Amino acid sequence: MGLEEKLPSGVLLSTVEGLAGYFRKASMWPATFGLACCAIEMMTFGAPRYDSSRFGMEVFRPSPRQADLMIVAGRVSQKMAPVLRQIYDQMPGPKWVLAMGVCASSGGMFNNYAIVQGVDHVVPVDMYLPGCPPRPEMLIDAIFKIHDKVQHGNLGADKEREIAETEREALVA
Ligand code: SF4
Repeated sequence: MGLEEKLPSGVLLSTVEGLAGYFRKASMWPATFGLACCAIEMMTFGAPRYDSSRFGMEVFRPSPRQADLMIVAGRVSQKMAPVLRQIYDQMPGPKWVLAMGVCASSGGMFNNYAIVQGVDHVVPVDMYLPGCPPRPEMLIDAIFKIHDKVQHGNLGADKEREIAETEREALVA
């Protein structure tokens, strides 16, 4: 007879990893960081109509040291790239990055020398959200997908992410 069958009903079993994932996803705090027009939709997500606090996100943090989610909302200029990287480096791990809109994801219509052709050249990206701009509902959907990733992620060091971070650091330097 398995352990689950021996226990009375109403007893839940989990793992430390599962619990940590649950609590992490339930209290993700985004960094205050908007770059262009997509940021208006991101701000709407924090306003009463969409109410980001329903998802444990409360308020956008004014300091990267208090944030674990970076929403890159807008195009990234070459001049802004080292600043963005510095903000990312100041965020404590574990941390996640969402590229909001086509500009952040791939440069979008700004295919020119001044704009980084995708923020993944600067920081590792966990979720790409298409649209110009994506609506707040789409942002919520992308955040739910990140929540899912966090819930089922490993507790230990993410070696692949560490390598990706180092590679991008070298590109920005
Ligand atoms: Fe602006 Fe569209 Fe680019 Fe978003 S994707 S920053 S709305 S141009």
